[in-house]
Amino acid sequence: MDKQQSIAEYNHKIKRVMITQEEIAQRIAEVGKQIDEWYDGRPFLLVSILKGSFVFLADLCRAISSPCEIGFMCAKSYYKQTVSSGIVSITMDLEQDVSNYHVIIVEDIVDTGRTLNDITKLLKERNPLSLRVVTLLDKPSRRLVDFKPDVSLFTIPDFFVIGYGLDGEELYRNLPYVAEYNLDD
Ligand code: 5GP
Repeated sequence: MDKQQSIAEYNHKIKRVMITQEEIAQRIAEVGKQIDEWYDGRPFLLVSILKGSFVFLADLCRAISSPCEIGFMCAKSYYKQTVSSGIVSITMDLEQDVSNYHVIIVEDIVDTGRTLNDITKLLKERNPLSLRVVTLLDKPSRRLVDFKPDVSLFTIPDFFVIGYGLDGEELYRNLPYVAEYNLDD
């Protein structure tokens, strides 16, 4: 396959833009202000769940004026289809002791809800001062467990989406917008 063909194939998988760069920026500015009001200037910890939330975290933290620390966690969940909660395997853990912090988990998307259900359970066992979840996207129609984020910037229907940190076979994370992924061909 020549270079032009592979670029055409790459572009073909981007079916349509669902949320523009401008719409994302506007919601992030609003949520940044909201977060500033939560802790009244007291320091808190933003925990990014890798890899999908790295772009969102980078923009969200710059929309916040209060002092905050950043932490990273990488988690993989393994489920049998019929089981609604599973063991989340932490492939990279936080370096902070969360018992000293108000914690905000920053996630890319809540789908079945199982990953965040498990991660919040796990972090609660470490006794943070408080724990909240902020997600860029929420697909409530796909939920398999009873999980509700504190803040969701956008609620979307059941489409597989890419861009703004979210991948399609590890590509497309660098798109500045959220798009529907072309699963057809
Ligand atoms: P859950 O445990 O809520 O089913 O899954 C959450 C994870 O599944 C997300 O963090 C994300 O990695 C992946 N995921 C769910 N829906 C999508 C989607 O539409 N696009 C992409 N790229 N990843 C998704």
